[in-house]
This record gives sequence, structure tokens and C-alpha cells, in this order.
Amino acid sequence: MSSIFTKIINREIPSDIVFENESIIVIKDIFPKAKIHLLIIPKKEIATINDLQETDKELLFDMFSIAKKLAQDLQITEGYQLHFNVGPKGWQEVMHIHLHLMSDL
Ligand code: 5GP
Repeated sequence: MSSIFTKIINREIPSDIVFENESIIVIKDIFPKAKIHLLIIPKKEIATINDLQETDKELLFDMFSIAKKLAQDLQITEGYQLHFNVGPKGWQEVMHIHLHLMSDL
């Protein structure tokens, strides 16, 4: 089943898009938990980190590379947090993997 993030990717739901390429979109979190709170989302529907496959390794590398580039652009390389929540019991609400990028700088 498609997640709310697929609806965002398909422009069925509006969002504040910070970056996009053919495989990844970055949006502002609707309920930011830090001064900067971005979500780095692959367009491929992967429910949780538990569902990752060997063939996803380039995608994961690209997600972290984009995080690093955004941190440079936002001038927060001195301190930021990157994290994945995994599974409903691991605080994951949206079952479509996404890397949280947060900073109070
Ligand atoms: P999770 O708990 O799954 O790791 O994180 C999901 C995040 O998505 C939450 O921080 C939540 O605020 C954010 N979120 C949920 N629905 C929407 C939405 O419709 N638009 C945006 N921009 N963020 C959302």
C-alpha cells in the first residue's frame, strides 16, 4: 500500500520540497522537531530499513550524500542528526523509509 510520501512524490498532496532528483525527494517535516527538520525520502517504496536489499545500496549512499550536501548548503556541518526510525515500535509512523536530518544550528 502506498504511503503518504508516495502521494507527496506524485504531487497528490502538497509539501515543501527542498530537493528532488529522479530517485530521491527531500521535504520539510510538517511538524518540525528542530529548527531544521528535513526528510530525505527515496521514491522507491521500501517500507522499513528491515526491507532493504543489496540492490538498494546505491540509493542509501545517495541519500546520505544528499544529507551531507544539504548540511553544507545550510551551513550546519558543525552539528546535525541523521536517523531512521524502524517499525511502529521504533517510532516509525510512515511506512516508507526516510532519513531525518535535524539541526538546531
Ligand atoms: P517517522 O516517525 O515515520 O520516522 O517520521 C515521519 C515524519 O513525517 C514525522 O516527523 C511527521 O511529522 C512527518 N510527516 C507526516 N505526515 C507528513 C506530511 O503529510 N507532510 C510532511 N511534510 N511531513 C509529514
